[in-house]
Amino acid sequence: MKRRALVTGGSGGIGAAICKRLAREGHFVYVHANRGLEAASAVVADISAAGGKAQTVSFDVTRADTTQTALESLLNEGPIQILVNNAGIHDDAVFPGMSADQWHTVINTSVDGFFNVTQPLMMPMIRSRWGRIVNLSSISAITGNRGQVNYAAAKGALNAATKSLALEVASRGITVNAVAPGIITTPMSKSAFDDEAIARLVPMKRAGLPEEVAGLVAYLTSEEAAYVTAQVLSINGGMI
Ligand code: NDP
Repeated sequence: MKRRALVTGGSGGIGAAICKRLAREGHFVYVHANRGLEAASAVVADISAAGGKAQTVSFDVTRADTTQTALESLLNEGPIQILVNNAGIHDDAVFPGMSADQWHTVINTSVDGFFNVTQPLMMPMIRSRWGRIVNLSSISAITGNRGQVNYAAAKGALNAATKSLALEVASRGITVNAVAPGIITTPMSKSAFDDEAIARLVPMKRAGLPEEVAGLVAYLTSEEAAYVTAQVLSINGGMI
């Protein structure tokens, strides 16, 4: 059955691949952006050209008020049954040199962003007795990573929220899972890892592709993944 899906950060590298894949599965996709509305529009154009259906939506996930207003207008058309919380940032620094701003911005985007977007969508999803929520986490939350105390804390909070929310809604036909990528080829990772570092860190000796993450998200949001919930699934070329 075809659903209405919202992918936050659809203007980014991994988010765009997820949007295109969910549209290929036949879902109507809201391609979300914050600053990158042009990139989101390009994703919608690609989806339309391939025969799919999509629309852009834009808001800052750290702003509860404007996020709520934007979501209310989507909910006027019916429940959103597939939600991919993919918007996220990193702002790395070794901890003694980390500013309060670096700490709060990264945590707010992931954790407050998760609340601001997910909470308003829950009751309509619950009433529809079907839902799929996928939260984009990171290997940093599992292994730790030097220079990413803020990012690891943010993604660790998402993993914990994933499990608790999954338990609350398990009896309503709603699954909640997290996907924890390792190094995926996007603008976010290109600046952080060169080829030598990737060969050293990744047993498969290559970075993952956004499309490979999208494939896992497509599975988790499918009918056949109905019994997979409260999990953190790694996709990292064997890094752990
Ligand atoms: P990008 O930097 O390409 O994209 C990040 C996305 O998040 C953009 O669409 C951006 O929107 C959106 N975003 C950032 N801040 C906000 C905000 N305040 N409000 C709304 N949207 C916001 O990142 P990736 O595609 O690489 O990463 C996607 C997810 O995957 C992230 O959660 C990241 O932490 C996670 N991840 C990525 C890995 C990698 O190797 N690339 C590894 C592990 C996890 P806009 O540009 O429109 O402002």
